Amino acid sequence: MKKAGRCKYTKSVFGESMGAYKDIGLRLEVFGTRGSNPIFGDVYSKYGGSTSCYLVEANDGTKQEAIILDAGSGISNVKDLADYKQITILLSHPHLDHILGLPVFPYLGDKNRNIRIYLAKKCGLSAKEQIDTVFSQPYWPLKISDYPALVEIMDMPESFDIGGVHVDTMDSNHPGGSTIIRLALGESKLIYATDYEHGEPETERKLIEFSRDANLLLYDAQYMEDEYEKCRGYGHSTPEEGIKIKEKSGAKEIVFIHHSPEHNDLFLYESERRYTERAAHFAREGEVFYL
Ligand SMILES: [Zn+2]
Ligand SMILES: [Zn+2]
Repeated sequence: MKKAGRCKYTKSVFGESMGAYKDIGLRLEVFGTRGSNPIFGDVYSKYGGSTSCYLVEANDGTKQEAIILDAGSGISNVKDLADYKQITILLSHPHLDHILGLPVFPYLGDKNRNIRIYLAKKCGLSAKEQIDTVFSQPYWPLKISDYPALVEIMDMPESFDIGGVHVDTMDSNHPGGSTIIRLALGESKLIYATDYEHGEPETERKLIEFSRDANLLLYDAQYMEDEYEKCRGYGHSTPEEGIKIKEKSGAKEIVFIHHSPEHNDLFLYESERRYTERAAHFAREGEVFYL
C-alpha cells in the first residue's frame, strides 16, 4: 500500500504477522489511544495522550479507501489523506471523547473532499440530529453544513460496504450504548471494540462470535483488574477479560485501547510486561499495523 514510509515504526512484538506489507488488506494507524479525556506531558508521550482515533487505509487491489474509527482529539493529526477524495468516519458513539476532534478535523475545511459520517441512532435521535446538536450554538459556532467539505451523515446500518471493505456492527454494553465495528477485506479482519464492558452474557457471547478468527482485536482495557471493581458500570473492561475474548474467539492478536488518563507510560509499560507472554499489547500513538 502507499505511504508505508510515514510509519513512525511498525509493530514488531508480534513478529511477521502484523508487520508484513500486503497488496490487498488493511493498514491501521493509531492516532488516539486515550479514553475519557486527552492528557499531555512527557510521562504520556510513549502511549499518547490524544483520545480515540484510528485511521484504516484499505486496499482491495484496485482502489483505496480511508476509514477513520472515531473522531477523538487524535483526528486533528490526520493530515496525510491527499489521495482520498472520499473519507469515511465511523463513530462508535457520540460520547465527547470520541467526537472531540471532529470540529477541527482538517479535511472538513477542504471543499474538494466528500466526508461521510456513520453513527448509530441513540436515544431516538438520528445520526444527523446527534451531530447537529454538537455543531450548534452555543456549543460550537459552525453548523456542520457551514464547513467547505461536502458532509453526509448516515445512520449506521448493521451491515454495509465501503468500497471493497465489508462493515458489520453490533451493540456494545456501555452506558447510553456504543457500537462495536468489524472491518473485513480479503483475509484481513479488524475488530474495534471500544467502550465495551464485559459481564453481560449475551453481548459477550455475541462479541466472541463477532471476533471469530479476526487478525486483530482492538479491545477496551481502560482499567486493570484491581481497579475494575470501583469502576464497575462505567462501561469499560480489563486486559484479562480481553484475553478471554481473544482466546475464545480465535482472534490472532489483541491490542488494548482506551487507556485511562490516570495511567502514565511507566504504568502502561509495566502492565504490558505482565501480558507479554500472552501476546497482548497496549496501543501506542503513531504505531502502524498491517493486517
Ligand atoms: Zn470513550
Ligand atoms: Zn463512551
